[in-house]
Amino acid sequence: MKRIALLGATGSIGRQALEIIEAHPELRLCAAASGSQAVDGLAPLTQVGGDLTELLERAEPDLVLNAVVGFAGLPATLWALERGVDLALANKESLVAGGDLALEAQRRGGGRLLPVDSEHSAAFQCFEGRAPEQVHSLVLTASGGPFRGRARDELTDVTPEEALAHPTWNMGPKITVDSATLANKGLELIEAHFLFGLRYEQIEVAVHPSSIVHALVRFRDGAALAHLGYPDMRVPISFALTYPERSATSLPPLDLQSGVTLEFHAPDLETFPLLALARRAGEQGGTHPCVFNAANEVAVAAFLAGKLPFLAIAEVVAEALAAVDGAPARDLDDLITADAEARRHAEEALKVA
Ligand code: NAD
Ligand code: MG
Repeated sequence: MKRIALLGATGSIGRQALEIIEAHPELRLCAAASGSQAVDGLAPLTQVGGDLTELLERAEPDLVLNAVVGFAGLPATLWALERGVDLALANKESLVAGGDLALEAQRRGGGRLLPVDSEHSAAFQCFEGRAPEQVHSLVLTASGGPFRGRARDELTDVTPEEALAHPTWNMGPKITVDSATLANKGLELIEAHFLFGLRYEQIEVAVHPSSIVHALVRFRDGAALAHLGYPDMRVPISFALTYPERSATSLPPLDLQSGVTLEFHAPDLETFPLLALARRAGEQGGTHPCVFNAANEVAVAAFLAGKLPFLAIAEVVAEALAAVDGAPARDLDDLITADAEARRHAEEALKVA
């Protein structure tokens, strides 16, 4: 019996996780939380908003599935890693913002980090059992989002509705906009750096419109291993929840006769500058990734509210990054301060954008 605490139970990942948990008698939901929607009766312990670590203390789970969106997921990530509790991590923002603190917490507590993000779940499986020195580089694939192939001047007037129409994945609104700007791939680049201990120059992004290859790892002998499958989050969610058993899912096996196309090309960094901004923030380290994330959260919320043009999302993030020193955070309080400061800079930038 594995006792699972599901944070973000009402979201896209949360609802798919509930489906997987229901299908497995050996998985038991001991706690469920959401940000604002009701979760009554979903689990023995439930909580709406507030400090999620209080819920976790009471629930004593074997595994935390962190499917909260945004920086709000950070305390739960640190809680699990610090206490040696398995962490199935969908909430990439917590690892981007607090990667150094998360790794320190993991060193102390020994919590196992199982990525739920599809590319990272794929990479985790390609890396498994292999020594780091064998690895040459990692390729993260990107669908390219709804605006793939467009030039910058064709994105001036795009609406939230257009940005929310993702070609291959059906996800929550924040990550869907992040996929349209490629900020999502930028967050994933930083996430991969922390998860797998790779230098940024070892991580490449390739646009792959059909989203069949989720990640590819190149090894020093010239071999490369890729992870393939239909784009469906139930696969990485199930992998993380049932690890290391790799339980069955209801998904059909990959059918190569039905016209699977594997096409790859370089991302257009001029049209989608957030990917390059994320790479630079990652390389600079300290709280730069935290600032990137915070400013992006503010800008995406403003875009979704119809208060910011699509192309200005990157400008707001660039301005916030330029306004800070990015000094490393010693603890969670430092990080919360850096996050709040970045949000203030982003709000200032919104006013003039
Ligand atoms: P969503 O918007 O559909 O759901 C977010 C969930 O978080 C909701 O249940 C919401 O109530 C909860 N939440 C928000 N703020 C909270 C707070 N302060 N306290 C407690 N709960 C809070 O988002 P999603 O698409 O399910 O994404 C969740 C996370 O998973 C994000 O970090 C996203 O980047 C990541 N992710 C999602 C997908 C996907 O397919 N949806 C794929 C890869 C990674
Ligand atoms: Mg992903």
